[in-house]
Amino acid sequence: DRNDFDSEVKSICPFCGVGCQVSIKVKDDKVAYVEGINGPSNEGRLCVKGRFGFDYIHHGHRLTKPLIRRDDAPEKGLNVDPSNPWTHFREATWEEALDFAAKGLVDLRSYYGGKSVAGFGSAKCTNEEAYLFQKLIRQGFKHNNVDHCTRLCHASSVAALMENVGSGAVTASFNEIENADVAIVIGANPTENHPVAATYFKQFTKRGGELIIMDPRGQNGLKRHAAYNLQFRPGMDVALLNAIMNVIVEEKLYDRQYIEGFTEGFFEFREHIRAFTPERMAEICGIDAETIRSVARTFADARAAMIFWGMGVSQHVHGTDNSRCLISLALLCGHVGRPGTGLHPLRGQNNVQGASDAGLIPHVMPDYQSVADREVRDLFRHIWRGTEIEETPGLTVVEIMDRVYRGEIRGMYVLGENPAMSDPDVDHARKALAKLDHLVVQDIFLTETANYADVILPASALPEKSGTVTNTNRQVQMVRRAVPTPGEAREDWEIVVDLARRIGLDWDYDDPREVFDEMKMSMRSLHHITWKRLETESSVTYPCNGPEDPGQAVVFGDGFPRRAGRAKFTPARVTPPAEAPDKDFPMVLTTGRQLEHWHTGSMTRRATVLDAVEPEANCSIHPATLRQMGVEAGGRVRLTTRRGSVEIMARADRNVAPDMVFLPFAYVEAAANILTNAALDPFGKIPEFKYSAVRVEAA
Ligand code: SF4
Repeated sequence: DRNDFDSEVKSICPFCGVGCQVSIKVKDDKVAYVEGINGPSNEGRLCVKGRFGFDYIHHGHRLTKPLIRRDDAPEKGLNVDPSNPWTHFREATWEEALDFAAKGLVDLRSYYGGKSVAGFGSAKCTNEEAYLFQKLIRQGFKHNNVDHCTRLCHASSVAALMENVGSGAVTASFNEIENADVAIVIGANPTENHPVAATYFKQFTKRGGELIIMDPRGQNGLKRHAAYNLQFRPGMDVALLNAIMNVIVEEKLYDRQYIEGFTEGFFEFREHIRAFTPERMAEICGIDAETIRSVARTFADARAAMIFWGMGVSQHVHGTDNSRCLISLALLCGHVGRPGTGLHPLRGQNNVQGASDAGLIPHVMPDYQSVADREVRDLFRHIWRGTEIEETPGLTVVEIMDRVYRGEIRGMYVLGENPAMSDPDVDHARKALAKLDHLVVQDIFLTETANYADVILPASALPEKSGTVTNTNRQVQMVRRAVPTPGEAREDWEIVVDLARRIGLDWDYDDPREVFDEMKMSMRSLHHITWKRLETESSVTYPCNGPEDPGQAVVFGDGFPRRAGRAKFTPARVTPPAEAPDKDFPMVLTTGRQLEHWHTGSMTRRATVLDAVEPEANCSIHPATLRQMGVEAGGRVRLTTRRGSVEIMARADRNVAPDMVFLPFAYVEAAANILTNAALDPFGKIPEFKYSAVRVEAA
């Protein structure tokens, strides 16, 4: 009965970076059902996760009491049953658990120094929780070794945007596609990963917009709406994009006035790009020269064009170069800063934009202010009452896990992250976690990472929190607590504050609002965005020009936040993937998400409808490839890379390129990251999740 509820609370969907606004109907302190409401990014729409995915918060596996590892527990490993953890853990009071958590970290700090402890926060955190978490590590342990899943997501895109545009966020909201006449979607599959954004993309094509899909995997839900579908060779993004730009340069299709007024480095770039002719690049990227020319002309001739990209671009050892090319392409044609133009890396998690803005990254403080800048350190010394900020940029996710493996980092505080599933070459990450002297995990479920914990602190799901989050469109939005946390579980910000006090920090916050007010002291992006406004308006976009301004959906129309207001062309060369297929590993493995499951599966696999729709670990392989192996659709295959092997059900999918296999990373029983390569992009330090050489055989 849709009328049978006690109260309704406006909040935000906890899953993807679209940040749909929802009305949560509550009955007897439980979520009865969820409806989409008129938020700026969703206008009432929701996908299957937002509509049917909330019941994970009431799952019987929820952690409801603090747990401490038993003295007689078996050796650490991926060996804990989340419904019966008692041979490994015992219940504790909050006092005991927090004292134990803090003492372990403080002992390591005293004995081995602050750098023996590192922190992983999460994009599942609100902005306030992310801010507090990075502050705890920076203030409490005097270094910057704190990071989160942006490192596995768009770190290379942000590196390229910071370098060439001067800001890591999108230059235009995805809704601006309404004002575009051409759009490129590259390395992204929005119908599965950003489904509500995809509805805007489809509307764009219905009113005559030309959609250009570039996607090696081929399994792209927008394909049938596209004017062009470029299934280029995996890892050859730079070859394709440079060839397109070669055409624009050689045919003088570029916007001379824009280039002269708003950019630098064009002449060097023009010389560089001359070598990348469509004929030469066609052999490398697998797209014929005439198609490359046609796409180049379509993009350059557009009145207004946008570029959207996803992790197919960013998760490569040349991820930063891929993004540099996309930025150069937009700059060449002046497709930035006007309605219907812009650069938009589609953010993965609900709050990966906000957690990054809040400083949950190792080389910058809140608002991307460099730790290496003395004035920035002085500002934070002032706001944080005398705290000296370490000037050396910290270590990133994969680097931290390497130091753990080598015994240099001996303690970790992990809030909401699940590196035992999400890190590349995860067997290495699991061995590293098992070596830690002291691991504090704060989460809502006994995740794969919590299997290795010494102490587990039961935390809150998004519908149980108050705070703010920031979506892919730079919209800062209000999260409102709809239901209580179960048992003795607590809101994350409270747990972080209590732990901070126990490690000796003089913290005094009574409410997330006080944290938000402190954030505003150092974050110009929050100028004119107040808690009161968010309570009333629910969403304000940054940058915001005044107390009445809803915020700027399109930015940089009058220059960029770089020297002399100019964006930069940075040439990129074709770099091969970190490993090549050979006779032992002849195919290419790529990983990603499915519509029904989100990230490491800890939430969606506990959501009844989502798990019923997609219950079994599966990979997608072309039917001809399956036939060659003598495997029927639905049969089992073994996937083996240089790191390891998994067995899994094979789904026949003629959209997938015959020499590729697509493996979702949500399934612990066939964990994709057992197979992936930990090789890093040198700038963004993001691993190459999108390309591993693999052998596929009947299981
Ligand atoms: Fe939630 Fe993203 Fe789906 Fe919107 S599109 S309902 S934010 S998962």
